[in-house]
Amino acid sequence: MNIILLGPPGSGKGTQGEYLEKSLNIKRISTGDILRNEIEAGSEIGKTVQDIISKGYLVSDEIIMEIIGSNLVLEEYVNGFILDGFPRNLDQAKLLEALLEKLNKKISLVLFFAISDQVLIERICNRYYCAKCGASYNKIFKLPIVSDQCDVCGSKDFKVREDDNIESVSSRMQQYRAKTEPLALYYQNKDILRSINSDQAVDKISKDIEILVKNG
Ligand code: ADP
Repeated sequence: MNIILLGPPGSGKGTQGEYLEKSLNIKRISTGDILRNEIEAGSEIGKTVQDIISKGYLVSDEIIMEIIGSNLVLEEYVNGFILDGFPRNLDQAKLLEALLEKLNKKISLVLFFAISDQVLIERICNRYYCAKCGASYNKIFKLPIVSDQCDVCGSKDFKVREDDNIESVSSRMQQYRAKTEPLALYYQNKDILRSINSDQAVDKISKDIEILVKNG
């Protein structure tokens, strides 16, 4: 199955993407994660995008398509893929379509994460993650079971994403509403869009997604 996760920052695409990776045994491509790795590694791409990302603007289509193009041809995605954070505008959606046609592949399903702005801001501004294994937490909704210790790997080293502050969040929300949200209609017209109520608890969202994926 080839799936796109579509929704605003903080709507749970990453969490549900990880869940889907396990339940469907297909891998996720997160453009945000890839870009953050480039920044961490200090690569040329990383240097180019660092400032853009911290301000909450979109990285150029050229850089994004290079990343997607070099990933989608990899052996690990032959049985399917989950796209998280891509496409983010209409041009990217069209470029993806052209690329998939060349590879003889098609998008099977677009999961649209519908959520209210208030919930989003609370989620993003309170989230943090384990610096060692990447597991995510939230000061209000999801604290580690043992305080200050990662549930997954036991590390006590936590980090906050550089762009998870109120200024960057409002700019990311604006970019999302103007450029990314219109993709919902684009995929609805192709009859592959399915909506999820993302205001709900994580487990309930996973159950809803499971049903949608089963029914296609
Ligand atoms: P979020 O969805 O929480 O904002 P992501 O991890 O998906 O975060 O992306 C972080 C940042 O990386 C974005 O704000 C943007 O600057 C950049 N980015 C990621 N994917 C794309 C994309 N497809 N097109 C342009 N910029 C992107």
